Amino acid sequence: MNHTRFDALIIGSGAAGLYTALRLTDLAPNWRIGLVTKDDLSISASDWAQGGIAAVTDKNDTPQFHGRDTLLAGVGLCEADAVDVLVNAAPRQIQNLIALGVDFDRDQDGNLALTLEAAHSKRRVLHSADTTGRALVSKLADAVLQSDQIQVLSQTLVLDLCMEQGRCQGVFYLDRQQEIGCFVSPVVVLATGGGAQVFSQNTNPHSSTGDGVAIAWRAGAIVRDLEFVQFHPTALAVANAPRFLISEAVRGEGAYLIDHQGDRFVFQYHDKGELAPRDVVSRAIFTHLQKTKEPTVFLDLHPIPQERIAYRFPNIIKICQQWQIDIFSTPIPVTPAAHYCMGGIVVDSHGATSIEGLYAVGETASTGVHGANRLASNSLLECFVFGERLAEKVCSQHNQIVENPTATYPELPQSHNLETIQNIKSAIQNLSWQAAGICRVEADLENAIAQITAWQDDLKQLAETSRLWIETRNLADYAYLLVRSALFRTESRGAHYRADFPDTDPNWQFHTVIRGEEIGRSANKLY
Ligand SMILES: Cc1cc2nc3c(=O)[nH]c(=O)nc-3n(C[C@H](O)[C@H](O)[C@H](O)COP(=O)(O)OP(=O)(O)OC[C@H]3O[C@@H](n4cnc5c(N)ncnc54)[C@H](O)[C@@H]3O)c2cc1C
Repeated sequence: MNHTRFDALIIGSGAAGLYTALRLTDLAPNWRIGLVTKDDLSISASDWAQGGIAAVTDKNDTPQFHGRDTLLAGVGLCEADAVDVLVNAAPRQIQNLIALGVDFDRDQDGNLALTLEAAHSKRRVLHSADTTGRALVSKLADAVLQSDQIQVLSQTLVLDLCMEQGRCQGVFYLDRQQEIGCFVSPVVVLATGGGAQVFSQNTNPHSSTGDGVAIAWRAGAIVRDLEFVQFHPTALAVANAPRFLISEAVRGEGAYLIDHQGDRFVFQYHDKGELAPRDVVSRAIFTHLQKTKEPTVFLDLHPIPQERIAYRFPNIIKICQQWQIDIFSTPIPVTPAAHYCMGGIVVDSHGATSIEGLYAVGETASTGVHGANRLASNSLLECFVFGERLAEKVCSQHNQIVENPTATYPELPQSHNLETIQNIKSAIQNLSWQAAGICRVEADLENAIAQITAWQDDLKQLAETSRLWIETRNLADYAYLLVRSALFRTESRGAHYRADFPDTDPNWQFHTVIRGEEIGRSANKLY
């Protein structure tokens, strides 16, 4: 087996992976860094981010306000120290991004333009029209490509960690020639993004298959809070169209949600109407659609001046046009869809996981900043704040030199089962949506676990060197962990809603923690 060595290995080329790699080059100019990604640098949820990035840049705002909003959104499960780190480091990260050339929108006086998003008490979301992610990722990717310290390994899919005596020594991968090899490194960083593809209705790119959580869990790492999935209220709902996100910023700028009769129905469910927290608005839409037996509700942009729509939402205009919707004159049909995974691999405030040599950052990590529900636009911010801290930590410590591992990866046959595997993948996505989507009950969750376990077994028999098999196995493991966590938590909190336990229970102010097959509660990190 081919062994290639790096001083640090980063898996994932979203905002978290790119930024961590760049920070490492600043702090450790002699290191050789491998950046592995299963597509190329331009494909990630980060690239798709629309609304913006939250940070205090206005004199009428303070990190304390930002922190308070974050804690309120997290409904008792945020870790206060992590939130403190996040909100206080935010303004400096914005300056770093501007120094890298990121072009945030500005007002007529040249100040950073700020928008409002749900559950923020102040306008504090910076943006670049409605393609903020692309504005960030393109600059980060350019800088990475210019660095001679970073070797980009694209079209390369990490299969599993390479573990020796309980320590992570590197990763096994499948390259574009379908060869399995091993990258060896004392520092392995999972920056693999979220797992919203586990649901048939989701706003994420095809690559968001929960690989990091599944890989880390199989190696024995602690994962937590996987039941907390944010369902975005407004995904485009047109037959055969992907569930393209219609950013919350559209409601922030004044758009209304209306039903088929033109009623602003969300006020029947919450006094903040469209700007109530995302889980509240998603459930309001879900309940209203069940009541009215209609397939969609609508987002009506007529309260926003036309020139403002054109300036702020050029990409949404373009995508809706592709589906024959003129958003200046026609309300957009929308439904909720899975959007963001709050839980993940447990890390300390410098990204260290419970496995020596293994780190995690971005959506795959659970730093504790999101609790039971993410405050909008805190997730891009998290990638930068914690990416930098991770880089500082691994550069300042003594990283044990690892030998070439003796472990090898089992031989996998050539791909020959694609149709069967694709059927299992679609079935996992449909079942997760039905049983563990916006509204959950015990019987559905129990049945789902039994079915998913059977698919996990089937997938072991179907092992082959195809990306489809690798991702479907990860989705099955992710679905298993998510559904078990959702069954375990017998209350409703934040984005987790149990119709059979509709209230928030103060006795449940704990994280759901899984290691191997063991599931339990924890008031804090376990190590
Ligand atoms: C449509 C949309 C809009 C959003 N808008 C906003 C917003 O306005 N503001 C905000 O704060 N957040 C937003 N989010 C959330 C935010 O984009 C993500 O939480 C954040 O970008 C995650 O970054 P990341 O680097 O952790 O992961 P990602 O950006 O998802 O990157 C993951 C990377 O890992 C790679 N990868 C995964 N598995 C493997 C593997 N096995 N082997 C090799 N490579 C692998 C992928 O190819 C990808 O390069 C949005 C998300 C979506 C989907």
